[in-house]
Amino acid sequence: MSILFISDLHIDEDGQEITSRLKEFLNSEAHQAQALYILGDLFEVWIGDDDPDPVKRQVVHALHELTRSGVPCYFMPGNRDFLTGEVFADRTGCTMLEDVETVDLFGTPALLLHGDTLCVDDHRYQEFRRMVRSEEWQQHFLSKPAHHRIAMARQARDASRGYTATMPMDIMDVSQAAVEAVMRDAGVYTMIHGHTHRPGIHHFELDGHPATRIVLGDWYDQGTILRWSPDGYKLDTI
Ligand code: MN
Repeated sequence: MSILFISDLHIDEDGQEITSRLKEFLNSEAHQAQALYILGDLFEVWIGDDDPDPVKRQVVHALHELTRSGVPCYFMPGNRDFLTGEVFADRTGCTMLEDVETVDLFGTPALLLHGDTLCVDDHRYQEFRRMVRSEEWQQHFLSKPAHHRIAMARQARDASRGYTATMPMDIMDVSQAAVEAVMRDAGVYTMIHGHTHRPGIHHFELDGHPATRIVLGDWYDQGTILRWSPDGYKLDTI
């Protein structure tokens, strides 16, 4: 039995096709898995636990079916769905994860992150992140009616698209120094994250230890799954 990792599906109201692919995955492979980890940005945006989008509701339902069948599902909010809260956890049966978690993968300790906190060279984004993660901002945002929040989220998304189009690529990738600092801090030499949409496996040396950073890809055209079993791991595209 494997432990599975996915991230960055970015499902929104136009995401019926990705949702269908996800449902197929949840009903087949994930159904047989030991556990499923979703490392953020399952949704393109989550305006609060009263999000009325019917496509997202299908996803919530499908996750609930999975957890009800006995497969544990762990959910780490990303920079797009950071407002998933207790109601989401209740409705899906998912266990919510903190921004940085260490898990044991058949004897290998691994750090799990969404990945955005590692992109420290993008100062403007990190400033934005601090704002929207504050209790004050969230209370203010969630106090607005849903249609208002949807409009605000659209505006923010369009602004972010315009912004990322003008940014040099390496500023939006993770900082190797940040990766190493987080690993050193935790004393863990394996890291799994998403966010950058640059799937790959990076080997390097950290303080004399072999270290590995595994990056999950997005689900725009296909889907990336990390499969971890007692025999090792494999980053696959489906
Ligand atoms: Mn992200």
